[in-house]
Amino acid sequence: MLSIFVLILDMKAIEIWTKDEIAKLYHQPLLELLYQAATVHREFHDPKEVQISKLVSIKTDGCPEDCGYCPQAARYHTDINGNSLMSLKEVVSHAQDAKDMGSSRVCMGAAWRNVKDDNDFDQVLEMVKSVNQMDMEVCCTLGMLSENQAKRLANAGLYAYNHNLDTSEEYYKEVISTRGYEDRLQTIDNARKANLTVCSGGIIGMGESDNDRISMLYTYALMQPQPESVPINALVAVEGTPLEEQTPVPIWDMVRMIATTRIVLKHAAVRLSAGRTQMNDEGQALCFMAGANSIFAGDKLLTTPNPDFNGDLALFDKLGLVPMKAYKKGDKPKVNEAYKEKPVNKEKVKWTRPGHLIERNEEAKAKSKEVRKSFRPRKISSVKKL
Ligand code: SF4
Repeated sequence: MLSIFVLILDMKAIEIWTKDEIAKLYHQPLLELLYQAATVHREFHDPKEVQISKLVSIKTDGCPEDCGYCPQAARYHTDINGNSLMSLKEVVSHAQDAKDMGSSRVCMGAAWRNVKDDNDFDQVLEMVKSVNQMDMEVCCTLGMLSENQAKRLANAGLYAYNHNLDTSEEYYKEVISTRGYEDRLQTIDNARKANLTVCSGGIIGMGESDNDRISMLYTYALMQPQPESVPINALVAVEGTPLEEQTPVPIWDMVRMIATTRIVLKHAAVRLSAGRTQMNDEGQALCFMAGANSIFAGDKLLTTPNPDFNGDLALFDKLGLVPMKAYKKGDKPKVNEAYKEKPVNKEKVKWTRPGHLIERNEEAKAKSKEVRKSFRPRKISSVKKL
């Protein structure tokens, strides 16, 4: 083993990987990599168990950000029907349906640039509390988050906060230009300060190189603690987005990425996320063999297609997999009514706004020229707390 064991934390050996070591792992012959990953998976996880998570889009579309893969970015011309914030009753109903089908985790996603201390956030806190009381793990993905907002979510019973790095720091600016990589890291740090577990992963197939994939894993490997949950997505190229012409990711790339993630981040739940409709059952089985131990279920993944619940359960049956129960790797958070306390002095967090650059389809290009005539973004180079 090339890596060096340097410290014991929570009785778990943390390995420090170098980027070269991860690259060497990643570039191995695929079957050798798969065998190693399956071995690690058996050592640290029960290979029969796969967590079924339900992703609920509690506020769809109209996002001011410019993530090049995302059909919910307001500036792209996609066929998405937006909505205002979902009611508490609807969220609880989605969560109950998911629980009845074997789901043990609900992730609530809102197409926001960042969380604001407003009534919508108060409503999200009530959603978190209600789903927590259903004994399901609750995760939120709401955009950039301040430390105080993270603490309120934790007090409401949130188990995990999702904020994906998406790709390497080097390639990130090719995909997203309205906020910086450091903003992403800051939000992850804020979630950690509130003792939330972290869900953070990436998307492959956006035109990045193998080195970008390795570099993203290296960033995660250096985090202490490492993310408890790592979604690996295959790009779903949506018409109207700048990445609409990307060709689908070969299944072999997905297996290679999942296997490498499993070995490098051995304690994490590795989530086989977007792009499953582009894979057949055999491909997904290889991903489970490589160490994926979670899927998102339901016919939509926020706005992109996903296999239906019954199809997933039939696949589980064929492969001898069983749904994982909630809180397998951590305790259920206790609700503390302090979540209702709004900050007396509003935190003023300035996130970066580098300016829009991502324009790869003609329609979006024309539109963004119009927008630019009336809007000149401020340039702020780093995250500052005032
Ligand atoms: S990925 Fe999230 S932040 Fe980016 S455009 Fe879509 S909804 Fe907005």
